[in-house]
Amino acid sequence: MAIPMLDLQIQYKEIRDEVQRTLQSILESGSFILGPNVKTLEKEVAAYHGVDYAVGVASGTDSLHLALMALGIGEGDEVITTSFSFIAAAEAIMYVGAKPVFADIDPVTFNIDPSRVEEKITSKTRCILPVHLFGLPADMDRLLEVAQKHSLSIVEDCAQAFGAEYKGKKVGAIGNLGCFSFYPSKNLACYGDGGMIITNDPELHEKILLLRNHGSPGGYRHLFVGRNSRLDEIQAAIVRIKLKKIDSYNMMRRQKAAAYRHYLNDIVRCPTDYDDCIHVYNQFTIASPDRTQIQAFLRQKEIASVIYYPIPLNHQEVFINKGTLLLEPQPKAERASQIVLSIPMYPELEEKNIEFIAASIKQALKQVA
Ligand SMILES: *Cc1c(COP(=O)(O)O)cnc(C)c1O
Repeated sequence: MAIPMLDLQIQYKEIRDEVQRTLQSILESGSFILGPNVKTLEKEVAAYHGVDYAVGVASGTDSLHLALMALGIGEGDEVITTSFSFIAAAEAIMYVGAKPVFADIDPVTFNIDPSRVEEKITSKTRCILPVHLFGLPADMDRLLEVAQKHSLSIVEDCAQAFGAEYKGKKVGAIGNLGCFSFYPSKNLACYGDGGMIITNDPELHEKILLLRNHGSPGGYRHLFVGRNSRLDEIQAAIVRIKLKKIDSYNMMRRQKAAAYRHYLNDIVRCPTDYDDCIHVYNQFTIASPDRTQIQAFLRQKEIASVIYYPIPLNHQEVFINKGTLLLEPQPKAERASQIVLSIPMYPELEEKNIEFIAASIKQALKQVA
């Protein structure tokens, strides 16, 4: 019985009729770009977060790029971000010509450590870019404190955390701009690429509307160099269908996480819930010094697992020779990259499979002992 990291078919079957009806009507409407579904989704996502504005864009990576462009960050500026994440945030910083400065993580939450952030601030620092990794909110109060003290903006990378909450606030609605991805493996996802930016700032909102469409207010006037980064009608319509269910999808993930903990808490380090947060478990990432043996054993049992992330960003080839700040050691991120292992997690994951996965991990560890 093979168990995948995630199973998109189960979810699709439940919404298939609605998806097919919707696709049919879009195909017949002939409106594919910046049409009614994108507009409505923007309103719905803004309302969901209790913010004034949302703008659909072509991907999560683009949401980060356009957010930094809208803030006017560029050549000579520094943006502080985590050393332990997917590369997109660091790339977006490079796209605008700024320098990513990596701050080490909290070894328990795997999120950026606010005290390490403060140490990295220089006269060139403009922005802090935390990632709510694996669906767990970063320590936003302390980051906001640092940002306020040094007059910095905050861009939140919420790609893995749609619906997560920090002290009663949805992530993305806490900093100046919140960036989301609808890539198929995210908690709220489309069937292709897509992304969104949310904000309460009317000027940033206006700027992003122009930036996503060639710096143009329409009529082939162009005010500045923008991008072609639009969310399309088909993807927006699919996200709208799933948005109605996102709280239930996230609740199911939280239940699966609790079940995993029930079986695994004593033998490997498991991600936990915190009183003041809602963790939405885009990944269930365990930590064990015996990761290699666990992964090999799971493979034998046809249970999928993935190392997110095997190489901390300060060790990525792309950053070598790009400046000394990038290569400073990040001991906590480096340690994490050696012990983490993400195991299957999706809303419909069956309890009996969780039990089987947990039993297999136990067996793997018995062989090590
Ligand atoms: C997926 C992801 C992104 C990028 O999103 P895309 O839609 O794939 O461009 C950015 N940051 C994090 C943390 C992600 O997991």
